[in-house]
Amino acid sequence: MRENYTLTRLYVDTTLVNGKSFELPKDQAHYLGTVLRKRKGVGVRIFNGQDGEWRAEITAISKRSATLTVEEQLREPKASPDITLCFAPVRKHRTAFIVEKATELGAKALQPVITQRTQFPKLNLEKMQAQAIEAAEQTERLDIPAIHPVQKLGQILDGWDSSRSLIFADEAGDAAPALKALSDIQGPAAILIGPEGGFTPQERETLRAQNFVTPVSLGPRILRADTAALSLLTLWQVANGDWT
Ligand code: SAH
Repeated sequence: MRENYTLTRLYVDTTLVNGKSFELPKDQAHYLGTVLRKRKGVGVRIFNGQDGEWRAEITAISKRSATLTVEEQLREPKASPDITLCFAPVRKHRTAFIVEKATELGAKALQPVITQRTQFPKLNLEKMQAQAIEAAEQTERLDIPAIHPVQKLGQILDGWDSSRSLIFADEAGDAAPALKALSDIQGPAAILIGPEGGFTPQERETLRAQNFVTPVSLGPRILRADTAALSLLTLWQVANGDWT
């Protein structure tokens, strides 16, 4: 099985079963044939977010098309731990960074949240999806994080399923240290990170009034939103996720 790790890994949007042949979309065919110069008979690894990971063979390839034939399952399906990252969108390249790194760190879902001080509310969800897929391909994940449509903070709180803890990264400094607070949390969870301007006093008050919210501190320094997101995701994986 080890030798398979050197094989190109692709996300494919089709069910995977032994012996199945299917055509890749044009962009992936181009990537395999023209960019990577793969030829007929070469093996690749594929996953679709549901059926685990499979070895497939390139059974036909030209400039514009490629056919794969599914050969054998390499790994059984495995879901990521149930952690959602709710974050206020920031500048384009920083949001791209958050999407990529949160995928690597095993976030199961990404929820863009519009807060009062959010400066960059416009998001290209398709692009985010593509960034998440690319990161998942590289990071050996078997699933792709779900990208939820943008919502306002108020809407999110109104529709919240209170069996899911909301871990609120509160920069104001008087919340419990994150790692300590996380040890009291169990089950499905979400992390909430504010925009570069932080949360308004009113938002902090509303958040703190919810019984499913746990405010946490990430130490004495104010982190940029992207750093805060990755730090808290890391801590959650250590305390409650699959780094244990
Ligand atoms: N402009 C704000 C900082 C915002 S930082 C200020 O000066 O207060 C962006 C987001 O990252 C914050 O809303 C918070 O969710 C998170 N964050 C940054 N540093 C943090 C810290 N030390 N503790 C908890 N959350 C933090």
